[in-house]
Amino acid sequence: MDKNIFRNLSYGVYVVTTMDGMRQTGCVANSCMQITSDPAVVAVSINHDNYTNKCIKESKSLAVNILTENADMTLIGNFGFQSGKDVNKFENIPFEWAYGNPVLKDSTCGYFAGDVIGSYETGTHTVFFVEIKDAEVKSGTPMTYAYYHKVKNGKSPKNAPTYLPEEKDEKETPGKKWVCSVCGYIYQGDIPFEELSEDFVCPVCKQPKSVFEQK
Ligand code: FE
Repeated sequence: MDKNIFRNLSYGVYVVTTMDGMRQTGCVANSCMQITSDPAVVAVSINHDNYTNKCIKESKSLAVNILTENADMTLIGNFGFQSGKDVNKFENIPFEWAYGNPVLKDSTCGYFAGDVIGSYETGTHTVFFVEIKDAEVKSGTPMTYAYYHKVKNGKSPKNAPTYLPEEKDEKETPGKKWVCSVCGYIYQGDIPFEELSEDFVCPVCKQPKSVFEQK
């Protein structure tokens, strides 16, 4: 079976947001689709290991923020490559409220939010069915998952349904670049990578210098 066929499916890049008690949290998702139009119901797939999964099960409500092509990689890193269990992902993120959920003010072309009306457990992910109660369209071009990979040079977190362990960037020149093995960020600073302080952390996923690999 050639799992690369799934790269020919279309996906977006979304930040799924919810509440952790009184605290805002969320994560990046790429598997989200509309199931019915009236009432409007969408399905969203979230890995069991994502802290957001547990929070959605408790709050029974979520919002899907549709990222635009100009969304910064650090925004994706903030929501996609660290756990809401350990950090407040909304600490430096401007947000407003939609149906009881925090939604991003910037870098999105809109959102929809609503109640979880059901779910299905797969081996690794929960598929949440959400009846939409609030939605807003903003400006901007939605980022596709293909754009995220090809133009933004982004990677799939291990928790993503679309994660393929053999992922490689065909454009790479071997031995020339220091690449974060966690998020795919390529170091492009003026100081040679070897001379960076040991305190250096990946600006996208905040992992230490030691996770960088020369490729
Ligand atoms: Fe990183």
